[in-house]
Amino acid sequence: MKSVGIIGWRGMVGSVLLKRMQEENDFSKIIPHFFSTSQSGQDGPIINNTLFKNLKDAYNINLLQEMDIIITCQGSSYTEKVYPQLRNKNWKGYWIDAASTLRMENDSIIVLDPVNLNIINNALDKGIKTFVGGNCTVSLMLMALGGLFSNNLIDWISVSTYQAASGAGSRHVIELLKQMGSLYNVVSEQLLDKSYSVLDIEKKVTRASRNKNFPLENFSVPLAASLIPWIDIEMKNGQSREEWKGQAETNKILNLKKNILIDGTCVRISSIRCHSQSFLIKLKKDISLENIKKMIVNHNQWVNVVPNNMKETLCNLTPSAVTGTLKIPIGRLRKLNIGNKYLSAFTVGDQLLWGAAEPLRRMLNLLVDI
Ligand code: NAP
Repeated sequence: MKSVGIIGWRGMVGSVLLKRMQEENDFSKIIPHFFSTSQSGQDGPIINNTLFKNLKDAYNINLLQEMDIIITCQGSSYTEKVYPQLRNKNWKGYWIDAASTLRMENDSIIVLDPVNLNIINNALDKGIKTFVGGNCTVSLMLMALGGLFSNNLIDWISVSTYQAASGAGSRHVIELLKQMGSLYNVVSEQLLDKSYSVLDIEKKVTRASRNKNFPLENFSVPLAASLIPWIDIEMKNGQSREEWKGQAETNKILNLKKNILIDGTCVRISSIRCHSQSFLIKLKKDISLENIKKMIVNHNQWVNVVPNNMKETLCNLTPSAVTGTLKIPIGRLRKLNIGNKYLSAFTVGDQLLWGAAEPLRRMLNLLVDI
C-alpha cells in the first residue's frame, strides 16, 4: 500500500476531505501519515475509531520525502514554501493540492475527473506527478454544464456568481455569523413588538452595520444584509482574479486548443458553503431545450435538471437545499428573448465538496490504484 502524507486536514477543506474518505472507506487502501504546520507531536484525527498520535512536522522535508503521495489542503503559502524544496531534492512522489499556486504550471494538471479523466490519464502516462484541484466556481460550473462542453456546444458564457463565505476560509464564516448575530441583537426586542415600523428596525440594523464595533476584521465590510462584488486580488484588466480564473482554468481543465470565452462578475453573498452561478450561454447552434437537458443529465451522475417552475426551483435550487450534498442541480433553463442560441441557466453546488475536497479525494483514489 502507498504511504500518503495528509496535510491541512484540520482546515475546512481538509475536514470535509477526511469525512468523505471515511464515508468511502478510502483509508483501507492507504497507509496515512498526518502532518501539521503548527501541532507536530500532538494528537491527530480519529479515523474509524483509531486515534492517530504524534502528528508529523509538515515542514520536515526528510519526512515528506518518504511519502509516495502527498495530499495538501493547507493553502498557497505552504505549497510555495515546501513544494519546490521537495522537487529540488528529486522527490518523485505524487503531489495533490487544493491551493491555486501550481494550477497554471505546465507540468501540473487541474483535476476534475468526471470532466477530464482522459486528460488526467494521459498525464499519468506521460509521468506528470502534480495534480491540483480547480477553483471552486470553475469546478462547479463544469460539473453542471459538462454535457454542453463535451458536445462542443458552447460559444461563450457570461456568468454572475453568488459565492459563499466559506470560499474565503473558516475565519470568514465565523465573521459572517457574528455579523448576523450582531444585527439580530440590536433589534431582537423590536421584532417581537408589533408597534415598531419595519423602517425603524431597518434604520437600527443599518446603523449597527456601520458602527465601528461591527465585526469586520476579515471581510473588511459588512456581508450580512449586504454583498461584496469583488473576490480575490485586482488584475490589470479590471477583472478580479476570481473572474480571471473562470476562463483560464476552464480551458486548461478541458485542454482546449481554441479558448472558450468566459467572463462575468464574481460576488460574495451571505450563504455559508454553497456557491450559485447564473449563466447566459451563447450556443454554437440552435438546439432544443429537451436535447440540452438530455445532454446535461447524461454527462455525470451528480448533475440533475430542476424543472423551470417556481415550486421546484424554491425546493431544489437553493444553497439551503444543496449544502452538505454532492448534488449539482441546474435549473432556470430557458431560451432567452435575445435569440434561440441564447440559453439561461442557474446552478448551485457545495463548494467544499465538488468545489474543493471531492476532486482531490477522487484523484487520490486514481493514484492508489496505479
Ligand atoms: P483553513 O480552514 O483556514 O485551514 C488551513 C489550515 O489552517 C489548517 O489545515 C490548519 O493547519 C490551520 N489552522 C489554524 N488554526 C486552525 C483552526 N482553529 N481550525 C482548523 N485549522 C486551523 O483553510 P481552507 O478554507 O480549508 O483552505 C485550504 C486551502 O484550500 C487554501 O489553499 C484554499 O485556497 C484552498 N481552497 C479552499 C476552498 C474553500 O472553499 N475554502 C476551495 C478550494 C480551494 P495546521 O494543522 O497545519 O495548523
